[in-house]
Amino acid sequence: MLPKFHIILGAIFSALMYYLLQITLFQTILIFFASVLIDFDHYLFYVQETKKWSLQKAYNWKIYRQKKHKPIMMIFHTIEFLILVFILSFVWKGFGFILIGLVFHSIFDIIQLGYEKKLYIREFSLIRFLLRDKKNYF
Ligand SMILES: [Zn+2]
Repeated sequence: MLPKFHIILGAIFSALMYYLLQITLFQTILIFFASVLIDFDHYLFYVQETKKWSLQKAYNWKIYRQKKHKPIMMIFHTIEFLILVFILSFVWKGFGFILIGLVFHSIFDIIQLGYEKKLYIREFSLIRFLLRDKKNYF
C-alpha cells in the first residue's frame, strides 16, 4: 500500500482512537507514527539492495510492481517484531500504542496483498527467514 494511503488511514484511525478511547494526544501520535513509519523497512531494503540512499528513488522503485518475485523480508512487518513490541509494552506503556499502530498497518497490508493475490511476496516470520535457504528470498 502506498505511503499516502497509510498516512490517511493512520490519521483517521488515530483520531478515532483519540475520541473513542479517550487516549492522550501523545498516545495518539504514537499510534499514528507507528502506523506510518513501520514501512521504513521498505526503505532499508531498498538501500540494502541498491546501495543508494535516495528516498525519492526508493519510493519509485519498481520492484513491488513486478508480477512475480520471491518473498521479501521486511523486518518491521514480522510477527516476531510485533511480539517484541508487545513484550516491551510491559516495560513502557507507550509501546502498547505503538503496537496498535503496527497491527493496524499490518492488517491493511495483509488485506491489500490478499486482495491482489500477492501474499507470497512478503515473509511474515523472521524465524522462518533465518532458518530457510536465502535463495528462496529476493
Ligand atoms: Zn507496510
